[in-house]
Amino acid sequence: MNYDTGKGWHDARIIPFDNVTLSPAAMCLHYGQEIFEGLKAYRTADGTVQLFRPDENYKRMNVSAERMVIPQIDEEFMVEATKKLVSIEKDWVPHTDGAALYIRPFIFATDPFVGVRPADHYLFLIILSPSGAYYSTGLNPVKIYVEQKYVRAVRGGTGFAKTAANYAISLKGQDEAHNQDYEQVLWLDGVEQKYIEEVGSMNIFFVIDGEVITPKLTGSVLPGITRKSALEVCKSKGIPCSERRITIEEVAKAYDEGKLDEVFGTGTAAVISPVGHLKWGDKVMTINDNKIGKISQMLYDTMTGIQWGKIPDTFGWTVKVD
Ligand code: PMP
Repeated sequence: MNYDTGKGWHDARIIPFDNVTLSPAAMCLHYGQEIFEGLKAYRTADGTVQLFRPDENYKRMNVSAERMVIPQIDEEFMVEATKKLVSIEKDWVPHTDGAALYIRPFIFATDPFVGVRPADHYLFLIILSPSGAYYSTGLNPVKIYVEQKYVRAVRGGTGFAKTAANYAISLKGQDEAHNQDYEQVLWLDGVEQKYIEEVGSMNIFFVIDGEVITPKLTGSVLPGITRKSALEVCKSKGIPCSERRITIEEVAKAYDEGKLDEVFGTGTAAVISPVGHLKWGDKVMTINDNKIGKISQMLYDTMTGIQWGKIPDTFGWTVKVD
């Protein structure tokens, strides 16, 4: 689909996968005006295909668009367009347990122009790719490294938007974590560098003394759809939850007092990802003996159960693809 100032979005079409032609002066290449989303299509036991909360993805896309001065899209139209596209490519939705069809909608500025200003022309594409089971070797807890030098987002910045620049900024911290043999980075806030924000591509949760705690959405954290869903599942089961600011010191203190029961990440790719090791400076915390905890397991079973249609979707989150 194309956008031109004065004409709006037009020419929505489904065409075979191919390269796109861009001017070397296309604004997205120089000034990074781009936003994207990520969601999945799942094949259920009875062979039907369904999406998980696609309306939330397009709602978030409009929030990102607003921040990045990209024109708003029609959310309902995009949900219908996604259903249609997946329906045409239904055979690509894997039958393998745990695998799914990844859907990547994205918008970028195409004007050939040198100079910083919002573009007048955009391209909106959706590409699809089968993605394998994230946990091919079982639900292994991940090792997370608390980044203390670099930050991912700052007050008034773009942390809450799903825009390419946020990921470019995070590469350095990710690199550092990998060099130390850790798989993911835990970001601290960009102002005081003490409040916990999120992990590379997941939101983060702590279970302290039986209470589920996740950092509040202060504007520098991506409002994850899995995060929101996990909170709703916990609440429906009567598990105490809170969304509040939490410092790394508080987590370390809870650990020292034996009250840090579980740590897990949430995201479309990993669904629920238990954290086994958390490194903050010289301190390495081993969580729940490096095993998945009770709440993480319950959330994993509930979320994947709903996504793959193994348990009834009492929340009304799934959308069938004809
Ligand atoms: N934070 C970041 C930075 C992410 O890239 C993602 C993945 N989209 C998440 C959190 C989790 O969001 P969601 O549950 O919507 O996939």
